[in-house]
Amino acid sequence: MRQSIFSIDVEDWFNLSGTGCEPPPAQWDHLESRLEKNFHGLLELLAQGRATSTCFFLGYFAKRFPQLVREAAAAGHEIASHSYFHRLAYEMSPTEFYDDALASRQLLEDISGRPVRGYRAPAFSVTERTPWFFERLAAAGYAYDSSVFPAPHQTGGLATARYAPHRLETAAGALTEFPITVVPVLQKPMCFFGGGYLRLFPYRLIRAMGQRALDDNRPIVFYVHPREIDPDQPRLPLSLRRRFSCYVNLRSTRAKLEAILRDFRVTSFDRYISQGMLQ
Ligand SMILES: [Zn+2]
Repeated sequence: MRQSIFSIDVEDWFNLSGTGCEPPPAQWDHLESRLEKNFHGLLELLAQGRATSTCFFLGYFAKRFPQLVREAAAAGHEIASHSYFHRLAYEMSPTEFYDDALASRQLLEDISGRPVRGYRAPAFSVTERTPWFFERLAAAGYAYDSSVFPAPHQTGGLATARYAPHRLETAAGALTEFPITVVPVLQKPMCFFGGGYLRLFPYRLIRAMGQRALDDNRPIVFYVHPREIDPDQPRLPLSLRRRFSCYVNLRSTRAKLEAILRDFRVTSFDRYISQGMLQ
């Protein structure tokens, strides 16, 4: 079976960006943190499945819980960046974005002692409104990105016909883009492989759609958050629609992840690249 990619956006239960309800960073230290317990739960699942993943850390939590970065690195997982403060790319100026991306990369390298090459924007917030995104990211020292969501999305979404990983040339150097995996259904791109989509759809459908992506000669990019295996997390006062997408099926996510790790061959982005899997 062709190799796929497993990734974790390492953030806490309240980091629901784009909902209008995410508390500002100044409050984060004062809220209950469930990150250590839930992240350890994901690391255990990966260990049981003998799988390697990419861990996109928020700089903020790497600074607060540096042992989590070291534990993940020691277990063979790749350390990458999910920005420093979880601000949406399209709500920052190009300079603010660059400073945030650079600071998170340098911090994660200091803690892990390894180069940090990968980036994922909060809530896939690369859109038509951020034409500078890839150039600023390359300038900040990144080699690849996995922020493009090639379908309509509540906070992001960038229409592209390039569903497979591909190389982008920018004025600041080249980047490899790994779009979030979508599969055409009735000629519309749909995601089944992470976040609310993974929690909503039954596993047999996720598995069948994943096979379609593999048959199309593409890796599946799976993505998950530590809070998604925590049915008892506190709830933010979200709109009805966001409440559904953020909290649906939290009890069954763990079993779905176990099934994914059993049925698919997954690895981290950096291993996928170093194994020469890019065409
Ligand atoms: Zn996030």
